[in-house]
Amino acid sequence: MATISRIIHEKQTDPAVGKLLDNPEPMVESFPYDHDNSAFVRIARRDFERAIKVPSSFISDASSHFASTYQAWTDACLSNKFKGILPMLEKTLVISRQMADFFPGYDHIADPLIDFSDYGLKANNVRKIIIELRQQLIPLVQTVTAQEIADDSCLHKHFPEKKQLDFSAQMIKAFGFNFSRGRQDQSPHPFTISLSIDDVRITTRIIEGDLSWGFFSTTHEAGHPMYEQGIKRSFEDTPLKRGTSSSIHESQSRTWENLVSRSRPFWEYFYPHLQKTFPEQLNPVSLDSFYRAVNKVQRSVIRTEADELTYNLHVMIRFELELQLMEGELAVKDLPEAWRAAYQRVLGLSTDNDSDGCMQDIHWFSKMIGGAFQGYTLGNIISAQFFERALQAHPEIPQEFRKGEFHTLRNWLTEHIYQHGRKFTTTELIQRITGEGLSIGPYIRYLKKKFSELHKIEKH
Ligand code: ZN
Repeated sequence: MATISRIIHEKQTDPAVGKLLDNPEPMVESFPYDHDNSAFVRIARRDFERAIKVPSSFISDASSHFASTYQAWTDACLSNKFKGILPMLEKTLVISRQMADFFPGYDHIADPLIDFSDYGLKANNVRKIIIELRQQLIPLVQTVTAQEIADDSCLHKHFPEKKQLDFSAQMIKAFGFNFSRGRQDQSPHPFTISLSIDDVRITTRIIEGDLSWGFFSTTHEAGHPMYEQGIKRSFEDTPLKRGTSSSIHESQSRTWENLVSRSRPFWEYFYPHLQKTFPEQLNPVSLDSFYRAVNKVQRSVIRTEADELTYNLHVMIRFELELQLMEGELAVKDLPEAWRAAYQRVLGLSTDNDSDGCMQDIHWFSKMIGGAFQGYTLGNIISAQFFERALQAHPEIPQEFRKGEFHTLRNWLTEHIYQHGRKFTTTELIQRITGEGLSIGPYIRYLKKKFSELHKIEKH
């Protein structure tokens, strides 16, 4: 890992690249900002100028450290010993702070690291949005969890692996995931890897005793390759060939996972098909009961198992702790205790088991601290902003879901988001599509409407 990352970095920072970038400048100035040519030079220059600020030796030492930390983390999780990983995590924090210091002039020490995943966003602005969201979300979670918890036992029968895989493959094919330009395999943690615009691969994980796990991790993951497959072909082999940021990428996976495949119109079409696939398990279960089950809200300690409503509370905890670590307000050795206190305060529950606590996510144990988590919550917020616009332009979208059709939504996403690759930043895309900045309004409206309607269903 260290060798490969050093070689890549040396190539990225080759002075010849800098010279090439200098040459087209007068010509590029004649193109408008949103022209492919000016975007190509703008993004290539941004990547180059960022890369040359960091020495290749630092990149290779950091990669080597992350690779061994990942290994030590898997052992520490098995033995549930945070102490086993503590010295390595302390070094990770030092590396993360050093990385930030290669970019002097920041407002917040996490800003340079946030830039790597969400270019242009600032810790203080994200913090403000997250606090705003928390203020709206906590009372909503309290109202919903005060109701009777939905019965989801129908999802915990035995669902054979092969049938689950086939069904979810049919589903994402209907969404528009192109199997001739990508594939799906299985792995313990679902992920996406893009090798080219014509070869984007995803993995999923099937649990035979839990229908929702494999189902929603597949529909989530499918949003990532559909974005990558939708990028303009002429961007192949250029710096524009990728999704633009972690938050926009996550907005796309959340669109297909939550706004589409946890919606009622979607299940009005697919539930009878699912019943045909699993008649013994599901024929006795009504559509209403099934819809409630897949939207069950219950506080938990594990982020990846959290429901749509409480999920962001998990992310907020991580984002805040990450900033405190970077600011030097929190020592790494105190992380487990700070984690427990935050869970108790925000979600009202905690665990003594650090494997299910501060060691549950791979992020801090395989890369930098800072900038690792904000994309998840911003993705949820942005998905609702975009979806609201798509519905305004095409009110027939939910009606199409009822027929198992998704092309109007997919075409809208391709036109406004997918095709552009890295051409526009997170904030530029939001501005272009909504005419406004990042805003929690549409997301809160969506959650309130959905969960109050769910509650009405439960009353019948
Ligand atoms: Zn994702």
